Amino acid sequence: MDIINKITKIIEDNHAQLVVVSKTYSPERILEVYQRGLRVFGENKVQEILEKKDLLPSDIQWHMIGHLQSNKVKLIAPFISMIHSVDSEKILSEIQKQAKKIQRRIDVLLQMYIATEETKYGLSEDEMWLILEKIHLGKFPNIQLRGLMGMASFSDNLSLVKGEFKSLKTIYDEVIERYHFENFDTLSMGMSGDFELALEEGSSMVRIGSLIFGKRNYS
Ligand SMILES: *Cc1c(COP(=O)(O)O)cnc(C)c1O
Repeated sequence: MDIINKITKIIEDNHAQLVVVSKTYSPERILEVYQRGLRVFGENKVQEILEKKDLLPSDIQWHMIGHLQSNKVKLIAPFISMIHSVDSEKILSEIQKQAKKIQRRIDVLLQMYIATEETKYGLSEDEMWLILEKIHLGKFPNIQLRGLMGMASFSDNLSLVKGEFKSLKTIYDEVIERYHFENFDTLSMGMSGDFELALEEGSSMVRIGSLIFGKRNYS
């Protein structure tokens, strides 16, 4: 079976959503996938989103999935559908500021540090609770907190990865129980190599690139 059909079937069966991660792939390749009916695309660099966006259909929903610098927020604020990579209060404040200027409410996820190996970005649980308290107190009115995002260790050790997904799901459930935030419904976890495991562990949004497009060329 065709890989896109196969992936979308698994994701639908799990009532989850697909973000097609198109970083490093050309607009032509992205358009081919778009023509298969997919509309949600994720990129990790601001400059790359801006360049591609102008060349591609306007009904694409762009998700920012990579580490974001404060000075770049204003460039994506007008159109971005969701920011998965909120990894500090500073960046959240900047998103609030830019969203307010243009009278938008921007969907965001807090990126959690769950990997036991590598990965530079992500909030600790303590940092997360501090931010949640401020959101709860109404300090970020132009932000719509939709959920959490996490990246598991890049490892063949399935039980390690599974444990990391489980811990993120546990935190996600605790947030729901404590705050009952409105529209808090998104747990973004799982990539090409581990999305089925992530879905088993309760993911509601998977971010898949190379499994759809083929091996990435970073040059
Ligand atoms: C690149 C990337 C992905 C997708 O990776 P694949 O292994 O190609 O599916 C998912 N999430 C983030 C944050 C990424 O940077």
